[in-house]
Amino acid sequence: MNLKNITVAGSGVLGSQIAFQTAYNGFNVNVYDINDEAINKAKERFSAFKEIYKRDMNATDQQIEDAYSRIAYYTDLQEAVKEADLVIEAVPETTEIKTAFYEKLASVAPEKTIFASNSSTLLPSQFAEVTGRPEKYLHLHFANEIWRNNTAEVMGHPGTDTEVFNTIVAFSEAIGMVALPVYKEQPGYVLNSLLVPLLTAAENLLVNEVATHETIDKAWMLGTGAPKGPFAMLDIIGINTPYYLSLAKAQAGDKDAAKVAKYLKEEFLDKGKMGKQNGKGFYNYPNPAFEDKDFLK
Ligand code: NAD
Repeated sequence: MNLKNITVAGSGVLGSQIAFQTAYNGFNVNVYDINDEAINKAKERFSAFKEIYKRDMNATDQQIEDAYSRIAYYTDLQEAVKEADLVIEAVPETTEIKTAFYEKLASVAPEKTIFASNSSTLLPSQFAEVTGRPEKYLHLHFANEIWRNNTAEVMGHPGTDTEVFNTIVAFSEAIGMVALPVYKEQPGYVLNSLLVPLLTAAENLLVNEVATHETIDKAWMLGTGAPKGPFAMLDIIGINTPYYLSLAKAQAGDKDAAKVAKYLKEEFLDKGKMGKQNGKGFYNYPNPAFEDKDFLK
């Protein structure tokens, strides 16, 4: 694997995590964002990683300082990618923004550069042509809190070069990820192809008054040995995301999804209950009921 210089485009929630994790593992990282304000926000995110990596990764001060010293910041895309072996794109999840970004990137990146998108819901074949280098384009999908939720789903489109695919699998392992190669284009990759139907089924059981959220979680936990049920998982994801997902499905005519969207809005969002992030969701935090030793009795 011959990658040394990595550019991360978009330095928000995920971009900043990808950039820091990559620098922490010894790569040179250029962080690109649209303006100084975004870069300043990114710098704040980076400074927070110091304590997080010490706590979760047993990182030393030296390792953290070394990581910071490998990161440079840019608001000029051409400068940011001048020597890039790989650009990891983590710009907002809209087709318009990503298409415009790739058009610009294609015109300034060196020929050798591989482009990888962290998109959660879009497919590589949607952007392959506009990158101008379809054989060097694929998706590399991380999970939030990448240093500990260390999955890297690698997914190409039919025209992605196999060698490029294997290079990105090796790269993701080199930055401390467990690589999950996905051999065919699949909306939701592997994890969300499993998770979304489970969560949707749980929401439908609840809004159709088949069972309470606690009963549904208990059934899943006892029946599979899983440490958490679907409603505990929804709390971690945050209620916003399942709300917007069900709203989109409702707008496409799904009646169950319309019930779920209404329920999540009225019972949670309108009451300021956002999930684990603010301590109020299907469970109250800290010390949610499903962690109680008697929950499964
Ligand atoms: P975010 O909104 O936190 O960050 C987006 C960043 O992109 C911002 O810093 C913004 O200034 C910048 N940006 C906007 N327009 C840009 C442009 N034209 N060029 C360069 N940068 C631009 O978003 P996020 O949550 O980090 O999501 C980014 C990508 O990562 C999305 O594709 C999303 O699907 C994916 N993702 C997110 C998560 C998550 O949990 N948040 C998990 C996995 C994957």
